[in-house]
Formats: sequence, structure tokens, C-alpha cells
Amino acid sequence: MSLLPSERDALLPALRELTRAELAPLAEAATPGRVSRELVAALGAHGVLARLFPRELGGSADGAPSATQLCALREAMAAESPTVETTFAVQGLGSYPLLRDGSSQVARRWIPAVARGEAVAGFALSEPGAGSDAAALTLAADPDGDGWRLTGQKTWISHAPDADVYTVFARTTPDAGARGVSAFVVPGDAPGLTGAPIELIAPHALGTLEFDGVRVGPDQLLGERDAGFRVAMGTLDRFRPSVGAAAVGLAQRALEAALDHADQRKAFGGPLRALQAVAHRLADAATAITSARLLVYEAAATLDAGGRATGIAAMAKLHATEVAQRVVDDAVQVHGAAGLVAGAPVAELYREVRSLRIYEGASEVQRTIIARELYRDD
Ligand SMILES: Cc1cc2nc3c(=O)[nH]c(=O)nc-3n(C[C@H](O)[C@H](O)[C@H](O)COP(=O)(O)OP(=O)(O)OC[C@H]3O[C@@H](n4cnc5c(N)ncnc54)[C@H](O)[C@@H]3O)c2cc1C
Repeated sequence: MSLLPSERDALLPALRELTRAELAPLAEAATPGRVSRELVAALGAHGVLARLFPRELGGSADGAPSATQLCALREAMAAESPTVETTFAVQGLGSYPLLRDGSSQVARRWIPAVARGEAVAGFALSEPGAGSDAAALTLAADPDGDGWRLTGQKTWISHAPDADVYTVFARTTPDAGARGVSAFVVPGDAPGLTGAPIELIAPHALGTLEFDGVRVGPDQLLGERDAGFRVAMGTLDRFRPSVGAAAVGLAQRALEAALDHADQRKAFGGPLRALQAVAHRLADAATAITSARLLVYEAAATLDAGGRATGIAAMAKLHATEVAQRVVDDAVQVHGAAGLVAGAPVAELYREVRSLRIYEGASEVQRTIIARELYRDD
């Protein structure tokens, strides 16, 4: 009897197969650094995106999306194609605030289209001067009649500049830190909104956004005025364990490649796996992945049960992403030079794994959160 949720075990094999056979080829055919509309459409057509949303909005979930299911989906997809996985995850991250905090009109306008894979979503929090310190953001929301005009820049925004809809965090009250930020829904074709792609070391669709007096009305406000930080943190909290799940999937794939290679490659009169140093490296990797996986699903279960998940979710994100980095590096080591050939699976993973320890709260930020939770009084 496993501690892992049966929901995960039921979902994983079929979803890995779907990703490998149907979705990964679309990711491979995509222009690196740009959103693949074919891939987004396929995620919709196969009903994968629908799992994030309730039935009344075109989804297939009963009520709010389950953190456990989100983890299972991301683990399965990452084990076959990190690009498929990030495309799916950003669709969720960009649209979850519309579901959580948007009016029913906003939710009806966008969620069914995202669920069908027809609309591409993005989550625009980071700025050139505000990354880990997101409360320092300066994108200005200046009063304009009954609404606002947005002026300033966002950067490192996944799916920018290609998305059809963004959740945008802007400053409605100057000098008020986290308490002066509001969240807005902004269509990608809003007048005054432009952007440019940024090329990363791995093929992640991401870019900048430039707001030149972009008009937003009161109906575009998500949640309350000046309470946008709650929208941002409510979304990031829900997704945090699933970043760990993506890391577990990626690490699992690296381990599988290393196991195969160590079995096939001959040296010193036998397979590499007969060398104790290699075997122990594989054993340590498998042990680390197993511990990370258990932590991830424990965090997801805590979230789904409605408990305080801040500390455990930060632990899951921290531990799983650090484990994945080490395991991928170990897998390259086991492959020798063959692991460094451009396009080799472990070489691709080596590039792809790096961003996980930085986005949605760098490892250092997760440690700060965990330490703060250790000293909570209640
Ligand atoms: C692939 C990718 C996708 C992304 N997608 C999005 C997106 O869709 N939307 C969005 O809004 N943003 C996105 N980001 C941005 C991401 O959230 C930021 O990169 C992240 O928050 C860190 O901010 P920064 O890069 O400005 O680093 P900085 O804040 O400048 O930090 C640099 C380094 O300083 C250290 N550090 C920072 N703070 C602390 C601290 N408190 N204690 C100790 N050390 C610290 C850490 O080592 C950190 O890596 C994405 C980034 C990447 C790489």
C-alpha cells in the first residue's frame, strides 16, 4: 500500500503515453521560445486543460481544481516533455486568477476558451526591478475615469508576448508595498500593449510586456482594489507543490535515461552499472526522487484538505527542484560525453531543469518561507 494518492497512480501511465505519443511531437516542432498554438489546441482537444476547471465553465473537474491532480498531470507531462508541461502549467497559472477572483462575466469570457485550448493565458507579476521582491513592483495603474491606465514594464512573463489574456499586477496605491497592488485581466490585443520574446537557454516561451497607457475598466479588476497581492499569492500557493511535481517528473526521466545507459554501455569488462560508484549514484538518485515525490504529494494533500500548506508547499518546491538539478547532473555524468551532445535527452534536461530553482520563488526564498513558518505561534 503506497502513501502516494491513487488518483496519481491512475492518471500517470495514460498521461505519460498521451504526452509521449501526441503532445511531445508538437512541442518538438514548435519555434523555440514561442507559444505553440498547435500544442495548446491539442492540450484542449485531449481534455487535459479541462481538468483544471469546473464543469460549469467548460471544464471536467468537480469544483475547484485539485492540487493533487495538478501535481499528477505535471509530473506525468514533465517526464516526457518539459515544454508540454510548462505550456500546460502556464495556461493554469495565467487563468487561475480569472477563475478564483474574476467576476462571473470574466470567468465566462475566458475560462471555457482556455479549457478548449483556444485562448493562451499568461501571469504577469515580475518586472525588471521586482523579481523575488515582487511587492516592489512599479507598473503604474493611474486613475482614469471609472478605471485605470497601466504604464510600465513586465519581464520574464511566460507566454508573452503571444498570449490572448494576461493576469497583470499593477500599483494602484504608491508607496504602499504589497498593500497597494491590484490585479487586472488584460486582453493580449489591448491598445497600448506590446511585447518582445526573450530567448532562454532552454526552449521556454517567455518575454517582456510594455504597457503604454493601457486602459482597464472596473470590470477588469480581479478581486478588490489594492488586494492584488492576495490574488498573486493565492495563485502561487496553489501551484507551488506542482512545480515540485514537474521537477520530480523531469528527474524521473533523467534517472530512466541513466539506468538505460548504465545497462547498455560497456567499460572495464562489463556494463557501467557493475561499477559500484555508478550503481550508488543511481541508488542515491532514486532515493532522492522518491523522497521528493512523497513530499510533493503530502503538500498537495494538505492543500486539498484545506490545511495550512505554506511551509510544506515551500519544502516540496525547494526539495524537489534541488533534487532534480542534482539528478539531472548525475545522469549527464553517467552518460559521459554522450550526455553532452546537443539534442541528447539528458543534455536537453540539463538546460531545462535550471529554471525550476529560480521561478515561482527561488530556493533561497523558499527557505526563508520555511524558516518563518517554523517560528509561527499558532
Ligand atoms: C523560465 C522562467 C519563467 C518565468 N515565468 C514567469 C511568469 O510567467 N510570470 C512572472 O511574473 N514571472 C516569471 N518568471 C520570473 C521569476 O518569477 C523570477 O525570475 C523570480 O521571481 C526571481 O526573480 P529575479 O529573476 O528578478 O531574481 P532576483 O530577485 O534578482 O534574485 C536573484 C537571486 O538572488 C537570490 N535572492 C533573491 N531574494 C532572496 C532572498 N530573499 N534571500 C536570499 N536570496 C535571495 C536568489 O538566489 C535569486 O535567484 C519566470 C522566470 C523564469 C526563469
